[in-house]
Amino acid sequence: MARVGFIGLGNMGGGMAANLAKKGHDVRAFDLSAEALERARAAGCLPVVTAAEAAEGAEAIITMLPAGTHVEQVYAQSVLDAALPSAILIDCSTIDVATAKRVAEMAAAKGLVAVDAPVSGGIAAANAGTLTFMVGGSKDAFGRAEPFLADMGKAVIHAGANGAGQAAKICNNMILGATMIATCEAFALAEKLGLDAQRFYDIASVSSGQSWSMTSYCPVPGVGPESPADRDYQGGFAAPLMLKDLKLALEAAASVGANVPMGTRAEHLYQAFVDGDGAGLDFSGIIKTLR
Ligand code: NAD
Repeated sequence: MARVGFIGLGNMGGGMAANLAKKGHDVRAFDLSAEALERARAAGCLPVVTAAEAAEGAEAIITMLPAGTHVEQVYAQSVLDAALPSAILIDCSTIDVATAKRVAEMAAAKGLVAVDAPVSGGIAAANAGTLTFMVGGSKDAFGRAEPFLADMGKAVIHAGANGAGQAAKICNNMILGATMIATCEAFALAEKLGLDAQRFYDIASVSSGQSWSMTSYCPVPGVGPESPADRDYQGGFAAPLMLKDLKLALEAAASVGANVPMGTRAEHLYQAFVDGDGAGLDFSGIIKTLR
């Protein structure tokens, strides 16, 4: 078992660090929040007082932070100076592709190896150790990161070079944002046309309108497997996080001149939802604005 530095013990990172400790790793955990550090201690990690201390002597240094600015700052101010030359740097945060590439270059300039490894799956998957990781980095770097990621997830997939993990994540979530809205719209229309929601689900879920948004995360209460809709849209994948990912997708699209009309429309609709009553709700709650 290895020494692992873990920086960022929030909703996602807390469960991920706990799973590494459960697998027997010596996890040195750091967060700005004292509460998060206490939770990490209770989960079998050793809380430390700086990010540099978490990074020192670690075979793997994992970050799970809110956005690109946090990752760049923690790398520049702590990780890159404290890391062993043999360490693998793994950023699991969802951040912009440009920053992901830049931090990997900053690491390489110091003789260090880094990968971007954002996740699919929410807080429940982080706690259960069933995340999917999409990894950007060299083949060798992927091989070094893979055992640590496998201890926190059910699938670890090599997406390509540095930045490719983030590219996969935002492209995936752009599909998710657009299909969720389309699914909500269709249920709202079906209702107005007098079609029973359960009957529509029974038909669309085995027809060409089927998608993950329909069959795994149905936005209508009491229809399909249990989902946040059954809890009045509490918990799950918060609408502001979907909005964040859509903004990252649009930013990436603009940087390469890609045409993303559905992604753009989804971003506008999620922005309006979050500005209205949606900030504290699961992203499937957008159906409330479409009914
Ligand atoms: P969070 O806000 O709950 O946790 C972030 C943690 O980082 C906080 O505990 C905060 O105190 C800590 N932090 C911030 N700056 C720091 C610094 N300089 N040094 C140390 N700690 C610092 O966020 P989260 O929900 O855990 O999400 C983390 C990342 O995972 C985000 O990029 C998010 O987009 C992504 N993500 C989240 C979900 C989800 O469902 N929550 C799903 C997939 C991906």
